[in-house]
Amino acid sequence: MSFPKVTPSKKPIYLDYAATTPLHPEVKKAMEPYWQKQFGNPSSLYRQGREAKNALDKARIGIAKIINSKPEEIIFTAGGTESINLAIFGVAQAHAHLKPHFITTAVEHHAVLRSFQALEQWGYEVTYLPVDGEGFVKVQEVAAAIRPETVLVSVMYANNEIGTIEPIVEIGKLLKQVNFDRTKNNLKPIYFHTDACQAAGFLNLDVSALGVDLMTINGSKIYGPKQTGCLYIRSGTKLAPFIHGGGQEKNLRSGTENVPGIVGLAKALELAEKSRSKESRRLKKLSEYFFKQLQRTIPNILLNGPKIGEQRLPNNTNLSIEGTEGEALMLYLDSYNIACSTGSACSSVETDPSHVLLAIGRGREQAESSLRFTLGKFTTKQELNYVLKILPGVIQELRKVTTQK
Ligand SMILES: *Cc1c(COP(=O)(O)O)cnc(C)c1O
Repeated sequence: MSFPKVTPSKKPIYLDYAATTPLHPEVKKAMEPYWQKQFGNPSSLYRQGREAKNALDKARIGIAKIINSKPEEIIFTAGGTESINLAIFGVAQAHAHLKPHFITTAVEHHAVLRSFQALEQWGYEVTYLPVDGEGFVKVQEVAAAIRPETVLVSVMYANNEIGTIEPIVEIGKLLKQVNFDRTKNNLKPIYFHTDACQAAGFLNLDVSALGVDLMTINGSKIYGPKQTGCLYIRSGTKLAPFIHGGGQEKNLRSGTENVPGIVGLAKALELAEKSRSKESRRLKKLSEYFFKQLQRTIPNILLNGPKIGEQRLPNNTNLSIEGTEGEALMLYLDSYNIACSTGSACSSVETDPSHVLLAIGRGREQAESSLRFTLGKFTTKQELNYVLKILPGVIQELRKVTTQK
């Protein structure tokens, strides 16, 4: 085979920001005092403890301002997965006596899907809503799935694989109407959770405008520390604890708080919000340019997800490249010092094709020929041009091999 004779980039070209992001230098700086100098346990009543408690309070107030909630409605967790588990199992356990029913979509992150699958094993009923060819769930389908026993609807804000932005505001409005009628008839309200891990930094997180009762955010996708996150819980929402112990975080998430991590999360969200509109515009332009050039130089490629525009995360390009294997492409790009992913990052240890690509109607082969590029803070046009110099040649070579088979 004759692959493009281009020297591998000296500088790593990272195009997998949806998998995780590097720590923002200002976040690192904000966290610094809390490792050694102000190491106290927030539960301790002496000075060091109070200092740590103050840091937690400040972080909570900062995040509350951004998502338009009360500070006490924010529970700190160890990441997106944990927030999601707390939301789902917390609502399930608080309503266990009602034989509750749950609604979600077929394109959620595994943290959501596998939590619901666990609930099914315990005998709960879950409806997985289908999506259309671009990954959108329909509000009417949510409405049609509601039963008297429904206690929770969980729909992601934006999809991590194909960037689809779901109609959260519309679903929120629907549930508000449904709940209005329910309370009149002495029925329990349906809670609405959204997984906003990919939305933070790109979309409006105002929980009141969104009409959500529960919202998951994590640090590792917004230039914050890994294993940090929070769950917004609208006051009045009935939720059972999921991790039991010393009673921290309103008894909903016990364990000594990760003070540096929480400070880092709050700083990361503050910075993400500050740069949100400017960065979204910049990345959308770059994505448009990137996809146009890919289309121009590579025959038979398919964009997975909505067309680049208002309904798609501005940093996401997901392609099915006919006659190739996504994993092989990804590894060849890696040899040129370019990092991207095939479908979702979690699938690197799995052999199944992406459930999201199957849900939008792609065949198995199309799903297995997918590559996802997600751009971020440090992405430049120059970097994309380097990828554009290499990718068409690599694809051409791999296609030759496939047709020889
Ligand atoms: C990354 C991600 C998660 C999981 O978050 P962790 O912090 O890795 O636990 C959940 N949902 C979506 C949409 C994600 O992108």
